[in-house]
Amino acid sequence: MDALRLEQVSHAFGEVVAVDDLTLSIAHGELVCLLGPSGCGKTTVLRIAAGLEALQQGRVLMDDKPVADDKVAVPPEQRAVGLVFQDYALFPHLSVADNVAFGLRGLSAQDRRSRSLEVLRQVGMAGSAEVFPHTLSGGQQQRVALARALAPAPRVMLLDEPFSGLDSRLRNMIRDETLHLLKESGAATLMVTHDPEEAMFMADRVALMCEGRIAQKGRPTDLYFAPESAFVASFFGEINHLEGIVQGGRVPTPFGEVAAPEHAEGTAVEILIRPEALRLQPLGAQGAAEVGTARVMASRMLGRSSLVHLSVNGSEGHDLHLHARIPGRFLPAEDELLAVHLDRSQAFVFPRGDAT
Ligand code: ATP
Repeated sequence: MDALRLEQVSHAFGEVVAVDDLTLSIAHGELVCLLGPSGCGKTTVLRIAAGLEALQQGRVLMDDKPVADDKVAVPPEQRAVGLVFQDYALFPHLSVADNVAFGLRGLSAQDRRSRSLEVLRQVGMAGSAEVFPHTLSGGQQQRVALARALAPAPRVMLLDEPFSGLDSRLRNMIRDETLHLLKESGAATLMVTHDPEEAMFMADRVALMCEGRIAQKGRPTDLYFAPESAFVASFFGEINHLEGIVQGGRVPTPFGEVAAPEHAEGTAVEILIRPEALRLQPLGAQGAAEVGTARVMASRMLGRSSLVHLSVNGSEGHDLHLHARIPGRFLPAEDELLAVHLDRSQAFVFPRGDAT
């Protein structure tokens, strides 16, 4: 039984199709990230799931029961969902404890108070129970917003870019805390983000959207290592683009051939290669035919890894500019010649011009 299921949902604002035939399920205790570029329809999906946007087409089910279809429209407050938004949306005239107690219905004043303090303790904010939200930092306000959403123990949590108002150090800390709190709560979570690293950090599964449709859904490792389109491959960080023509089920590259069995003979393809798939060694260390040669244009230390800019002779005589990312410190001198070995598990072949 799915905690939340959107089935063939479509939604338009006038002429703009924001969501186009989207189906997505979230199991109990599962955290699914809805990922995609700005304007692809993520927030609209979340608002439809919450009941904040009237359903136009399709069905929304919770625990296999329709909460929105052509006959039913359960209002947001009766859907047992917890909502967390980017702007925290705390009530300014209520104390932190009263903000958290706000959504607790059917309890005595004393029980509301003790539940509110219990959840505030979980998010490390019990010491601020009596203050007003405007006296808190952004990170603290987001913890309170999370506590408020979790307090009624909802079966489904819906989060819309919950960390994007925070600076990067705080963001890393709060999203780590949030991941563990959500997992402990056992709620099914749908979280919207445009940040692929954040999605991979948080999600059991990712649904990557493009122009209202799901381009691919699966575990982060599926999307990263087995992208089904150039759009999906390119969305997870910078990627090197090469072009080629399929010959006998393979495409030649400066680093040896790459298998392309699913493409017809003569197809013009692009080969997308992650920067970490280019392994660099001193010339002569390997003599295999699968190794190409590159000239170093520049080397930069990026912290956990080094980025090496390479110039490689392309098939039509012009030079290609490629990036290799090497773990740790690896800073070869400008103009040094290096052997390049390609990790084929991170090289992906798609028909040229296949943007989605
Ligand atoms: P972002 O990451 O920028 O918030 P998003 O992926 O969440 O984007 P949505 O906010 O769902 O995307 O918007 C999808 C499309 O629908 C966009 O083209 C947007 O302009 C349009 N849209 C969203 N809400 C409305 C509205 N209330 N009225 C008209 N158009 C809207």
